Amino acid sequence: MIEKSGGRGGGAEYGIDWDARDLSRDGELDLENRLTETGYIPGDGEVENPLRPRAFSEYIGQEKVKENLKIYIEAAKSRKETLDHVLLYGPPGLGKTTLAGIVANELGVNLRITSGPAIEKPGDLAALLTNLSPGDVLFIDEVHRLPRTVEEILYPAMEDFALDIITGKGQMAASYHLPLPKFTLVGATTRAGQLSAPLRDRFGVVLRLELYEPRELGLIVQRSAKILNADIDADAAIELASRSRGTPRIANRLLKRVRDFAEVMSGGVITLNTAQIALERMEIDELGLDQSDRNMLRAIIKNYGGGPVGLETLAAAIGEEAITIEDVNEPYLMQVGFLTRTPRGRCVTPAACAHLGLPLPSRLRAEEELQLKME
Ligand code: ADP
Repeated sequence: MIEKSGGRGGGAEYGIDWDARDLSRDGELDLENRLTETGYIPGDGEVENPLRPRAFSEYIGQEKVKENLKIYIEAAKSRKETLDHVLLYGPPGLGKTTLAGIVANELGVNLRITSGPAIEKPGDLAALLTNLSPGDVLFIDEVHRLPRTVEEILYPAMEDFALDIITGKGQMAASYHLPLPKFTLVGATTRAGQLSAPLRDRFGVVLRLELYEPRELGLIVQRSAKILNADIDADAAIELASRSRGTPRIANRLLKRVRDFAEVMSGGVITLNTAQIALERMEIDELGLDQSDRNMLRAIIKNYGGGPVGLETLAAAIGEEAITIEDVNEPYLMQVGFLTRTPRGRCVTPAACAHLGLPLPSRLRAEEELQLKME
């Protein structure tokens, strides 16, 4: 059973405290209207979100991660121990927060949710840790953004379940060793490389989440449609899935928008035709690229001869934040083979030119001719 907690906000009923996380999203990615945005948007991932799976049986895909976690949870339960600390990494919107919730559910404990940038001072972390009940799961999103001073008090907390706090200075200094209840830390990060080595080493379980296959996303769309009471044809579900950039959060968001079109256009039933028209109106092409992706590729091709072009220059040219380009556009454009990152900057590939119906810039044409000669 999950205990009720006194936490504020909509999550209280589930023993989940979402407030810290809401505060942490300080408008850094101002993309609320962007349908293909993968990061957390207030309201999108709320705990009341009925689309969020609550058990492994509802969590589609990520088979390896699920299998491993199930074994570790089973073993911890049979030994009556707390689960080892878990690090989940992978792009945003793939289900890291959802998995943390499932882990807590399966263990029958509370889930506390916060994020790296929300914990500003060691005292914030101390307050969180001392309020945990034995066995609780503490989820820290964006764990790579924890301040150094906070990280340092997290080490003994993770290793020895204790807080070492020093108060005062000079002769007045006193150190306290405060025992904590045993807990499981589930850390999530989009950038495992940015995690400091001492922190990474303290996670006993490290799991990487992969982008989803269209088939899996199709199942997620169908599951979500059922929960939302929306009627969707199988081919329409596949269509949405194949334009969702391998990301459940986008699949769910597209489903909700397409459902609006179906309401008006086809008596509430999401048919392939309605889905295609709706996606076209939203300017999401058959590969899931949106206007901003296409602008970016076009700028590299037309203004910079296909690249290389530096990130900041590119950001200024298309009027986007560099961090948005790095976190939202690039992972998918690289995955579909339209973009490469070189030490000198970003380059497009011939496939990107073909997709946009643009002629190859001279550098790419020369490279292709050279390749043909060598073959
Ligand atoms: P992350 O924490 O990695 O950014 P979330 O856990 O918030 O991602 O997931 C985003 C949304 O996608 C959730 O609200 C949930 O509805 C959906 N989702 C994620 N993973 C799955 C999955 N494996 N099966 C079904 N739905 C999923």
